[in-house]
Amino acid sequence: MLAGLMQDRPLLLPTVIEHAAAWHGDVGIVSREADGGTRRVSYAEAATRARRLASALARLGIRAGDRVGALGWSRHRYVELFYGVGGLGAVLHTANPRLFAAQIADTVNHAGDRLLFVDPDCLEIAEAIRDRLTGVERYVLLTDRAGLPPTHLPDVICYEDLLAGGDADYAWPALDERSAASLCYTSGTTGPPKGVLYSHRASILQAMAVCGGDGFGIGGGDTILPVAPLFHCNGWSSPFTAPMTGAGLVLPGRAVDAASLCALIAAERVTLSFGVPTVWLDLLAHLDRTGGRLDSLRRVGCGGSAPPRALIERLARDHGVELVHAWGMTETTAACTFGRPDADETGAAAVAARISQGRAVFGCAFRVTDDAGRPLPRDGRSVGHIGVRGPWITAGYYRDDSGPAVDADGYLATGDVGTIDARGRMRITDRAKDVIKSGGEWISSIALENLAAGVAGVAEAAVVGVPHPKWQERPLLLLVPAAGAAVDPDAVRRHLAARVAKWWLPDDILVVDDLPRTATGKVLKTALRARYRDRFDAAGGRD
Ligand code: AMP
Repeated sequence: MLAGLMQDRPLLLPTVIEHAAAWHGDVGIVSREADGGTRRVSYAEAATRARRLASALARLGIRAGDRVGALGWSRHRYVELFYGVGGLGAVLHTANPRLFAAQIADTVNHAGDRLLFVDPDCLEIAEAIRDRLTGVERYVLLTDRAGLPPTHLPDVICYEDLLAGGDADYAWPALDERSAASLCYTSGTTGPPKGVLYSHRASILQAMAVCGGDGFGIGGGDTILPVAPLFHCNGWSSPFTAPMTGAGLVLPGRAVDAASLCALIAAERVTLSFGVPTVWLDLLAHLDRTGGRLDSLRRVGCGGSAPPRALIERLARDHGVELVHAWGMTETTAACTFGRPDADETGAAAVAARISQGRAVFGCAFRVTDDAGRPLPRDGRSVGHIGVRGPWITAGYYRDDSGPAVDADGYLATGDVGTIDARGRMRITDRAKDVIKSGGEWISSIALENLAAGVAGVAEAAVVGVPHPKWQERPLLLLVPAAGAAVDPDAVRRHLAARVAKWWLPDDILVVDDLPRTATGKVLKTALRARYRDRFDAAGGRD
C-alpha cells in the first residue's frame, strides 16, 4: 500500500466543542432551567466547562470505558456531559426519565453506571429507584448550590461545585476514535430495551452527514431547537451539529407543550426544530386556536414516525415552514434518510417525495429483502424487510449475547417493512410487528393512518391489526378528533373507500379521546392491540 500523506487526526467529540469555542465562541446554548429561568452559555464557556468536568471526573476516579448515567431533560449541563464524559474516554448513558421507574433502574444497572447525574426535576425518580441500583456510587445533581434541593440520596455532589474544582486547561486525552462515547437504550416497543453504544467516530460522521444540504441543511445562520430529547438518539445529534456549524442551540428543558415551544421559538428566533409528528400536530392545533405565527421558523425536522400529508401541506401553506422528513432509529445513531424532492419534482410530486422516508445520505446503504433474505428490486412496489449498513449503524448491542445484529452482508435488520423505488427513495409501510396480515396479504397501517388523518376534523389516526377468526388479522382504525371538532366515522370510511382496495378498509372505526404513547411520544401499538384484542373475536368484521 502507498499510504496517503494526510494527517491522521482522530474524530473525537471534544474537537467539536473546541472548534465551536475557537470559531463560534460567542454563539452558544440557551437553556430553560428547572427553576423556570433561562441560562445562556456560549460555546467558549461550554468548552471550558466540559474540560473542567472531564478533569473533575478523572479526579473522582472515573476512567476510560466507565459508564456514567444521566437522568435529565434537555438543558445546557446535559450538553456538557456529552463532551466532558465522552471526552475523558468514559461513556455517557442517556437514561430515559419517561420510562417506568423499574425500567430506568434496569437500564442503569445493565449499563453499569458508576455515577448518576440527576436533574433537580428528576430527583424523585432517582430517589425512588435508588435501592434497586447496583453499581451507582455517587449522585451528581445538575444544579448550583443555591438550587440544591433537599434529598435523602447518599453521597450527593453539586454539579457546579464539581466543575469549580475542575481544571479549565485540562488537556483532552488522545483516544481511539472508535472508542465508545455514549450509550442509549432502545425504547423497547417491541421487546426489552437494548443498549446501543455510539463511538466518537460514528457520532461525528453522522452529524456531519445530516448537516449537508441533502440532510437537514444546517448552517451557521441557524438556531436549532431539538424537541426530541437529548436522551433519545443524542437529541438527534443536535449537541454536535449545532456547535459543529456555529448554529445556536436552544434547549427547552422539560416544557415541550405547544404553548411553551411557540413562546421559545418566538423569543429565541429559532429557525430549525426537530421532533416527532405529534409535536408538530399539537403545535398546529395550538396556532389554530391562538392565531399565533412562527415568523422565524424555516424548517422542522420530522421523524420517529411518518408525518401525515396534511401536516406537511399545512406547515408549508399556512406558515411557510418546510417539513424535512427523516428516518432513523436508535441503532442508526439518528437520521439516515431524508425525503426531499428532486429539482424536477414540484407540486404533488414534491409532496410525495416529502412523504417518503427518502434517500440515504452518503455513508448509509439500504436494501429490501424478502422473507428468505433475497434482495428485492427497487421498483417502489416490492415490499420487504429493510436492512441498513454504514459506519454509524450498530453492529451489535451492549452486553447482549444474542449474537451479531447484522447479516452476512453487514446489514442490520431494521424491523421496518417497506419499498425502495427507482429513484432510490425508501417508503416505510410498517414496523414488521405492526403490519396487518390479512388473508395472506399485507395491509399497511401507515398508509391507512395517513389517509384518515387527511380528513377534516381528524387530529390523529392509528391503525392496528386485530386477530380475526377467518382472516388472521383485520384493521381497526382509531381516530382522535381535533379540539372542538366532530368526526364522522362513516365519512372517514367513504374517504378511505375512494382511495384503497376494498379489503384494506378497516372493519371498525372508533373515535377515542387520545392514544397511548411510548416514552418517546410514538403511538404505543402494543397497548392498542392488547386493548382491542377480542374486538373481532366472533363472526363480526369482514366476511
Ligand atoms: P427508535 O429506535 O425509538 O428511534 O425507533 C425507530 C423506529 O421508528 C424505526 O425503526 C421506524 O419504525 C420508526 N421511524 C423512525 N422514523 C420514521 C419515519 N420517518 N417514518 C416512519 N417510521 C419511522
